[in-house]
Amino acid sequence: MSKSLSGKTALITGSTSGIGLAYAKVLAGEGANVVINGFGDADAIEKERLGLEALSGAKAQYSGHDLTKPDEIEAMMAQAAEAFGGVDILINNAGTQHVAPVEDFPVDKWNLIIALNLTSAFHTTRLAVPYMKSKKWGRIIQTASAHSLAASPFKSAYVTAKHGLAGFTKTVALEVATFGITANCISPGYVWTPLVENQIPDTMKARGLTREQVINDVLLAGQPTKEFVTVDQVAAMALFLCSDAAASITGANMSIDGGWTAQ
Ligand code: NAD
Repeated sequence: MSKSLSGKTALITGSTSGIGLAYAKVLAGEGANVVINGFGDADAIEKERLGLEALSGAKAQYSGHDLTKPDEIEAMMAQAAEAFGGVDILINNAGTQHVAPVEDFPVDKWNLIIALNLTSAFHTTRLAVPYMKSKKWGRIIQTASAHSLAASPFKSAYVTAKHGLAGFTKTVALEVATFGITANCISPGYVWTPLVENQIPDTMKARGLTREQVINDVLLAGQPTKEFVTVDQVAAMALFLCSDAAASITGANMSIDGGWTAQ
């Protein structure tokens, strides 16, 4: 049976866990071929890949390319083109975090975060747009963050990258607006994923707090709902942005943050 995204191909960076994997599941469930990317245990990834194919019968490929390296991004995009002709839906989602005061911020962590959270989206986008233009249809979605709109202390590289990603997205949206291509950010507040869990120890150290204090007094302090956002809520927004109903939403930054940036 034909589904709403049958015949389309979605490439989702950083989709071996967390939010990215949730995107892959909703898009594959709607019939899209998917290319998943990221690191992790090979057997676990193969299991996820097979699970994605079982959702609707569309194909799923895995790319283990390291997106901090432009030549590997080119290889990933070439793999997608070889397998499926090109990418109709590009979701730039791969990201990482490091928490430290600016004067102690490790230079290698700064460079890693800018390369992965910001520059990789430039490379995937520049490589995906020609195909989308030829098809007169495309969807570019970034997992930005509430940190694309507001700052928190000790996250200088992450906040810089996410603000940059928001500006990049608006620029691309203007450039491709007459080609049936939209470009938007989804900006979650705190979502319970490995990325959030892994920053708890450093935040405990940077602020001198217990684990419970970090969760309640730091992570959820600014989130008025006092609930973590779920990966499924974020993925549902991406699916909507891929629909025809969202064709006029472009250059937008869609907050899913429990009210964080309303303050
Ligand atoms: P996650 O750690 O679960 O997923 C990160 C993914 O990126 C994994 O698949 C990982 O293998 C992959 N990855 C890491 N380094 C990579 C590299 N060099 N090349 C290719 N892939 C790489 O994290 P998540 O929370 O699902 O984060 C996904 C995105 O959502 C990130 O951009 C993050 O900044 C953003 N985000 C997360 C939250 C949150 O609270 N979790 C909130 C706002 C925005």
